[in-house]
Amino acid sequence: MPYDAIIIGAGPAGMMAAIRAAEKNRSILLIERNNTLGKKLLISGKGRCNLTNACDTEDFLGKFSQSRNFLRNSFAKFFNTDLMSFFEDAGVRLKTERGERVFPVSDRSGDILNVLKSKLKNKNIEVLTGVRVREILIKNKKIEGVLTYSGKLFTAPRVAVTTGGLSYPRTGSTGDGYKIILKLGHAVIPAKPALSPILIKESFMKDWKGISLKNVRLTLFAGGKKIDERFGEMLFTHVGLSGPVILDMSAAVYDALKLKATTEISINFKPALDRKKLDARLLREFRTNSGKAIKNIFKNLLPQGIIERFLEYCKIDANKSANQVTAEERKRLIKGLFDLRLTVSGVMPVEDGIVTRGGVDTKEINPKTMESRLVKGLFFAGEVIDIDAKTGGYNMQAAFSTGWVCGDNI
Ligand SMILES: Cc1cc2nc3c(=O)[nH]c(=O)nc-3n(C[C@H](O)[C@H](O)[C@H](O)COP(=O)(O)OP(=O)(O)OC[C@H]3O[C@@H](n4cnc5c(N)ncnc54)[C@H](O)[C@@H]3O)c2cc1C
Repeated sequence: MPYDAIIIGAGPAGMMAAIRAAEKNRSILLIERNNTLGKKLLISGKGRCNLTNACDTEDFLGKFSQSRNFLRNSFAKFFNTDLMSFFEDAGVRLKTERGERVFPVSDRSGDILNVLKSKLKNKNIEVLTGVRVREILIKNKKIEGVLTYSGKLFTAPRVAVTTGGLSYPRTGSTGDGYKIILKLGHAVIPAKPALSPILIKESFMKDWKGISLKNVRLTLFAGGKKIDERFGEMLFTHVGLSGPVILDMSAAVYDALKLKATTEISINFKPALDRKKLDARLLREFRTNSGKAIKNIFKNLLPQGIIERFLEYCKIDANKSANQVTAEERKRLIKGLFDLRLTVSGVMPVEDGIVTRGGVDTKEINPKTMESRLVKGLFFAGEVIDIDAKTGGYNMQAAFSTGWVCGDNI
């Protein structure tokens, strides 16, 4: 059966494109290689789905690494308030958390996916799961349809590639879209990690795995020069560091490592205090608890799990009582609390990142329609395009917005 359009990949971008296209009375075939839809959406936001961010357009665009102007059109047509209404009108209550991050009140990404699935159903969109597209066929400069890995041909004059990027390949995004469109003459900006955990050389913090720190300031140094600084939440992993601030910093870390500069991250555990205030705080703690072991006093200053190794790093005997701590040792403790230096040995590969930097070159896509500038009838949406942003709901919104515009025009 010929369709008006075929959409390859049922993530947020593909599902939204199909829904919008059906609203415009297009007959759509949505093809997904997994047996279920929206696998990545389901694990997003640790299973809670941070679907968008409630900040204004300029702030929003500022969170993207590049391609800001490219997204302006999509956001003008379908932005955060439209997306929120889309789900709220369908009965999902939403809440806005710290940093303007929007989640379903239920904290269940499944509620977001269910709305998309029921809209696909209600609009009679044909959905094929467990079918992997191999190629887009072109005959006499016109799109003929798609060919699957099992050799089946589905015909349609228009096709949208919404296959995602390269991160978390187990969710289905293995870079198929890049291979498909390279054959059609499109340029693909090579993928590199963005929002990826960072590997650390020092082994002493391996015991800190699973511990998260709130309200810390992290500074990135390359060759001794400060190149980035951020404030927020981080997490120790078995090989290094992760958590929102680290993920947001990871692209800068990747670039610094490429320059072969010694790359270090400094953790400031007490960014709200200056040296004088911290010294006074330590003196107060030490005086009130003069007979206590320093490791016990530090329970008021650092998470329990990191105290012993931290004191080792500062070269202080953890069992020493507070009244024996010298002024010199106090200086070392202050230095450690303000500037614990870790040497970066790498960034986890793109597959372990939350989002892919790189993809279809935006210069080759019409931002008003999401149609290819090279092949008539070929459309794109979502992470397959070279767009990526920080954590906070921006990437999902970009997928939904470009998906909506793609569906509006396909
Ligand atoms: C762990 C994790 C947590 C995240 N949390 C958030 C968050 O809270 N907020 C946020 O804004 N962003 C988050 N992101 C990023 C966000 O999930 C993605 O940017 C978004 O899912 C991209 O949507 P998409 O539709 O473009 O691609 P995808 O969601 O990757 O969907 C692409 C679909 O295409 C299918 N496909 C691929 N190739 C083929 C083929 N050949 N044939 C048929 N089907 C194919 C795939 O199976 C997949 O289902 C997170 C990402 C990860 C990995």
